[in-house]
Amino acid sequence: MTDKFDVIVIGAGPAGYVAAIRCAQLGLKTACIEKWLSKEGKPALGGTCLNVGCIPSKALLESSHYYEMSGSALSEHGVQVENPKLDLKKMLARKDKVVKDLTGGIEQLFKANKISWLQGHGKLLPNKQVSVTGQNGKSETYSAENIIIATGSVPIEIPATPFTDDLIVDSSGALEFSEVPERLAVIGGGVIGLELGSVWRRLGSKVVVLEAMESFLVVADQQIARESLRIFNKQGLDIHLGTRVTGSSVKKGKIEIEYKDKDGLHKDSFDKLIVAVGRRANTDNISDDETGLLLDERGLIHVDEQCRTNLPGVYAIGDVVRGPMLAHKGSEEGMMVAELIAGENSNVNYETIPSVIYTHPEISWVGKTEEELKASAVEYNVGTFPFAACGRARATGETAGMVKILADKQTDRVLGVHIVGAHSSEIIAQAVIAMEFGASAEDLALTVFAHPTLSESVHEAALSVHGRVLHTVQKKR
Ligand code: FAD
Ligand code: AMP
Repeated sequence: MTDKFDVIVIGAGPAGYVAAIRCAQLGLKTACIEKWLSKEGKPALGGTCLNVGCIPSKALLESSHYYEMSGSALSEHGVQVENPKLDLKKMLARKDKVVKDLTGGIEQLFKANKISWLQGHGKLLPNKQVSVTGQNGKSETYSAENIIIATGSVPIEIPATPFTDDLIVDSSGALEFSEVPERLAVIGGGVIGLELGSVWRRLGSKVVVLEAMESFLVVADQQIARESLRIFNKQGLDIHLGTRVTGSSVKKGKIEIEYKDKDGLHKDSFDKLIVAVGRRANTDNISDDETGLLLDERGLIHVDEQCRTNLPGVYAIGDVVRGPMLAHKGSEEGMMVAELIAGENSNVNYETIPSVIYTHPEISWVGKTEEELKASAVEYNVGTFPFAACGRARATGETAGMVKILADKQTDRVLGVHIVGAHSSEIIAQAVIAMEFGASAEDLALTVFAHPTLSESVHEAALSVHGRVLHTVQKKR
């Protein structure tokens, strides 16, 4: 047995590393176990989000957007770029540098906060002990008053399309294609499938998205989802709904996919396949059987509202527990648990966690969808505003999409805000703050927004809740 800590965190993704930093800020002697190895085989902090998730995907989304813009869209502004050329190697290298800089930044933060980074695989043992097995196979045991499990999630593999080295890949493989595939299939029209499908479509692939559900983006407000589907189809993303992939084979460097839809069985051939059917909690070998750590029926670590597991002094946060698999949700849980351990009162407001899909335009929302309100028999008013009627959107040329606000019919309290539109990942923060403060649609309508901004569309949608919209003619629902 070696050192004893106040807190040991297992996993240094956005849930774990934030928990570790907050614990250290609160004066707790903190260690964080992380086993991630970078592409170069070097130990790295930051987890899925920084290494193969949020950050590299957004780097490629931005770069591929510039590439696409330099084609047709810029010429509308009177800027002629002759034959824009793609330097994919440079684009990928830039993405890798962004990742390296940020993961290196977390390492600096660990040093500055005196957090001990224990490199290797962590495993919970009975009596608040943890073993750490390094790359050399040697194990050390540590103990702590409190243990936070933040082991994240991993991509789901389906039997019909087992991963290969470079043809049938998960989201991490899809960040590394060394050439633009001519024909690319994506299984799963969810967040990751749409983002990565968009990257490669912009770079020149013919992209076919095969989605099992009959409706597009079932988690989103369906009016926004329908509008988004229309925009993506126009962009050339070939999205097939109600389509289940049943098998695949690799022949002469191509992937033959079999899929079923309402018209029967089909076969098609592709150069690459991205499997983006969701992620599962990573509980692989993280706890000794004797600890009795309880999982729920979906394989997530069972926790209460404040992320306490069934074991005293053991918490779990982030993708490995219930709730949306989002980096900011995990980070908030990390801060909450650190503060609880330090004896403070803390909680997370799960009602106001924003979701964003970083396509172009972006899809962003917070709170309830219209479908959820109907299902729970809550009476509501709706206000909408199209970006096509927004002066700033006209000026920038990004007129696709709309803002939709749902407000309680009796109290006028904002219950949900849904946006498809350029930069909506930034705009949605206003709605989150409004909801966090319990704002009414009237509060938003009385707020002064700078002109000309895209955010004025939130103002107009709030005015529209009460039939007072200014810059368009209000439609009757
Ligand atoms: P993770 O980030 O998965 O980190 C867990 C860490 O624990 C890993 O580093 C792992 O190596 C380590 N670990 C696991 N087991 C052990 C063990 N036994 N011992 C030691 N270490 C261990 N979310 C957003 O909010 N916004 C986005 O834009 C977004 N984009 C995404 C794009 C892609 C392509 C993907 C794949 C995901 C994206 N996500 C996004 C989701 C986001 O990455 C996750 O929600 C987030 O990373 C979860 O954080 P976490 O800390 O719970 O787990
Ligand atoms: P997300 O949870 O946002 O990552 O999205 C995953 C998407 O994959 C969801 O829309 C699922 O409906 C879809 N999906 C899951 N399994 C399959 C499958 N076998 N074939 C096609 N789509 C699938």
